[in-house]
Amino acid sequence: MNIHEYQAKSLLRSYGVSVPQGGIACTLREAKEIAETLTGPWVVKAQIHAGGRGKGGGVKIATSLEEVDTLASQILGMTLITPQTGLQGKLVKKVYIEEACAIEHELYVSLLLDRSSSRLIFLASTEGGMDIEEVAKTHPEKIIKVTLDPVVGFQPFHGRQLAYGLGLKGDSVKDLTRLAKGLHKAFVTLDATLMEINPLVLTKDHKLLALDVKMSFDDNALYRHPEIAALRDLDEEDVTEYQASQQGLSYIKLDGTIGCMVNGAGLAMATMDIIKLYGGAPANFLDVGGGAPRERVTEAFKIILSDPNVKGILVNIFGGIMRCDIIAEGIIAAVKDTNLNVPLVVRLEGTNVALGKEIFAKSGLSIISLDSLSEAAQRIVQYVKEAV
Ligand code: ADP
Ligand code: MG
Repeated sequence: MNIHEYQAKSLLRSYGVSVPQGGIACTLREAKEIAETLTGPWVVKAQIHAGGRGKGGGVKIATSLEEVDTLASQILGMTLITPQTGLQGKLVKKVYIEEACAIEHELYVSLLLDRSSSRLIFLASTEGGMDIEEVAKTHPEKIIKVTLDPVVGFQPFHGRQLAYGLGLKGDSVKDLTRLAKGLHKAFVTLDATLMEINPLVLTKDHKLLALDVKMSFDDNALYRHPEIAALRDLDEEDVTEYQASQQGLSYIKLDGTIGCMVNGAGLAMATMDIIKLYGGAPANFLDVGGGAPRERVTEAFKIILSDPNVKGILVNIFGGIMRCDIIAEGIIAAVKDTNLNVPLVVRLEGTNVALGKEIFAKSGLSIISLDSLSEAAQRIVQYVKEAV
């Protein structure tokens, strides 16, 4: 789960990281009231879950209260297109008004889980403010990496390694160490998966300030952080993915035409692979889980069919805990419930499979039931091709 910049800044502040003073506004009136409590110049910043807002015109500096008003009226309600939003852009519903600072230098610092070493790793660079992926490509030597040993956790020397790597001197070394320590504390305490400060700036009066913060959290740990879960902004999320998660389904929308319903994440991945192998493209990843009740199967069908790109469905279920007859009943109920009008190929295997097939045969519905996954995948790919 991702959160907004203003929320991330407020969290970081509570962990002792310096951020500019600011406030969030949904209306022009609120923007004006906040600006009046701050010292100008001000920065008006669109709050959407995407970076590159500056390039798209979503971050602007105002030198007077009138200008705050003008900029806020331009940004609030605009559809902001950035390199990360796609061409459709995102509607801006909130603006963050904060004090602008005089920047001497823009740096980059982030903390994330490095999956290859299974450790937390700090990344830092003197090339802050820009696209870090680009820096990594063109100037990999400009990325400093500091890996943390999970046994000892964060130590002051890690902070100094980062600070010296960034060319900081004097009090700034101490400031950066304190910042890195706060970032690490926040990361571990809140079960984050990414905390990125870009840019972290050294101001003209030699202070370190986090000017832009991005945070992502581990969805599986949200249950133990209700205060973080409460920061969720549904406007920023894919509605179907959210609805699916409420039903206990793991659904990820993709851009193909073959809807997939599978039990088990590994089997779901294999099913998507085999669709690709035979020249098709999956419209989604969907894991209905182990003991999915009939209602959940219906819900899964509805979610798959809510995607207008779906031209056919492939169901691949291994009945282990789940019994094939129950699944067959669930599928039939779902077909009737949703007035299914795209081809449906089902491959069932496991407990009570004969009973399941019998239920399909007796249903009188045009469900194609096959035993082999290869055959099932080829068949649905063929149907979808014919339909186009
Ligand atoms: P994004 O990464 O989405 O473009 P940022 O918050 O990083 O948005 O803002 C883009 C740029 O705007 C920053 O690199 C920085 O130069 C400038 N900026 C942002 N906030 C401030 C601020 N409070 N004071 C001065 N400049 C700022
Ligand atoms: Mg930024």
